[in-house]
Amino acid sequence: MRTPVIAGNWKMNLLPAQAAALVNELKPLCAGANCDVVLCAPYINLPAAMAAAAGSNIKIGAQNCHWATEGAFTGEVSANMLRDIGVEYVLTGHSERRTLFGDTNETVRDRTRAGLDAGLTVILCVGEVLQERQQGITYEVVRLQTKVALEGVSAEELQRVIIAYEPVWAIGTGLTATAEQANEANKWVRDCVAELYGQAAADALVVQYGGSMNAANAAELLAKPDVDGGLIGGASLKAADFAAIAGAA
Ligand code: PEP
Repeated sequence: MRTPVIAGNWKMNLLPAQAAALVNELKPLCAGANCDVVLCAPYINLPAAMAAAAGSNIKIGAQNCHWATEGAFTGEVSANMLRDIGVEYVLTGHSERRTLFGDTNETVRDRTRAGLDAGLTVILCVGEVLQERQQGITYEVVRLQTKVALEGVSAEELQRVIIAYEPVWAIGTGLTATAEQANEANKWVRDCVAELYGQAAADALVVQYGGSMNAANAAELLAKPDVDGGLIGGASLKAADFAAIAGAA
């Protein structure tokens, strides 16, 4: 039995006080959730979000980390720094990092490595762009992203990896993959992990779906056998919507 993980990705939204207020609003709403609840905040909001979440079942994550532990990387934040202030999760390979900020499969692999080395749980994002889906190469794209990102990750470390399948055409667009499409791609991710680590490890892996998941469509998506939770962007900024998704898990 996999425990579903519902993770919010606030992207570049909220001031620290607003982040704390949203966590405080969510705490009672998510207290009874039958899933793990994670909120990925902008770096500057992490201390406020963690302070507000203290003592609750809400865990806090960052949205990225650099691959080096320290050095001349102006403007960057290392996974060690995140861990040091008490952050538990980090996203790697989000499509906005890939498309807007030049992340490649290799830099995603290196960021994943850094997150694991620092003791974080990594939510690794994979997913095809619209053109790739139309070309019929979603399977190949998702496998390549998964395989490269997991290069050098041990079976033990895999226990601190969550994979979020996020079709890029569904992120922030209001277009959602059908539950069948989501389940099919999540299964491809799991099959790829089974090839690398064996079926038992793949069966234990949490594979989320992300892409315009909301209070109205969450239950249908989450009912699918290979959809073990969600990575939620827009709807994670509204307490009632995010709590409803957590409640559906
Ligand atoms: C995301 O940012 O990972 C995401 C899925 O966004 P949205 O839910 O807004 O599509």
